[in-house]
Amino acid sequence: MSHEPDHAVNRLRRMRLARSTRPFLARGGSVKRCPGCLLVPELCACDLRPQLRSAATFCLVMFDSEPLKPSNTGRLIADVLPDSTHAFLWSRTEPDPALLALLDDPAYQPYLVFPDCEKAPERVVHQVSLPTGKRPLFILLDGTWREARRMANKSPYLDRFPVLAVKPEQLSTYGMRVAAHDEHLCTAEVAACVLESAGYPDEGVALQHWFNLFSCRYLAGKWHRAPDDAALCQALAAYGQPATYESQE
Ligand SMILES: [Zn+2]
Repeated sequence: MSHEPDHAVNRLRRMRLARSTRPFLARGGSVKRCPGCLLVPELCACDLRPQLRSAATFCLVMFDSEPLKPSNTGRLIADVLPDSTHAFLWSRTEPDPALLALLDDPAYQPYLVFPDCEKAPERVVHQVSLPTGKRPLFILLDGTWREARRMANKSPYLDRFPVLAVKPEQLSTYGMRVAAHDEHLCTAEVAACVLESAGYPDEGVALQHWFNLFSCRYLAGKWHRAPDDAALCQALAAYGQPATYESQE
């Protein structure tokens, strides 16, 4: 078992926990888990967590209890790109001032990552084209499919940004999916596809591998069986030990 890495999603989870008046009863929430990877302790994957630096930046806008769910995959993005991931709770009418400040930061070109835009189809783009000197800020709406749609349609402060609709089936990261568990990609898979399509393939592949390992071991823990993850472990071992971000303990 390992300590919880210090990054935006874990900080948000602690804040959300502190705000809860009663214990959060997520499915699988009563199981004992490693605080670092939220897998059952005997399947801890902390030693294999890849950590990269990237000019690509993510802004996770998370629906209410999403940061508390052990199965949340937005957290995996922050695991891999701790310096490039911001996370906020969603509010329709009272968005976090820090979120608004990030969206206004001239260092970034924000993109709302979503398959379409019902309100304004002219906002939809399929490629990232950055003005000189800007870094991409990919806004991901983290929740169930219904919650994400609600956030996309009811966040006026996001209405001015282009909507980036990636075509995942054309990308290698999409082909690396462990199982076609759902026609909709989960948040970490969307992020991996966005990274690849926007010209950050190394980060995209690392994230896809990390998601695959998490997913494989999460299910193995749930069904009390041994994970079939030798190839994934080998791929992830190539990134070296994630020592940098745990030295603050
Ligand atoms: Zn762990």
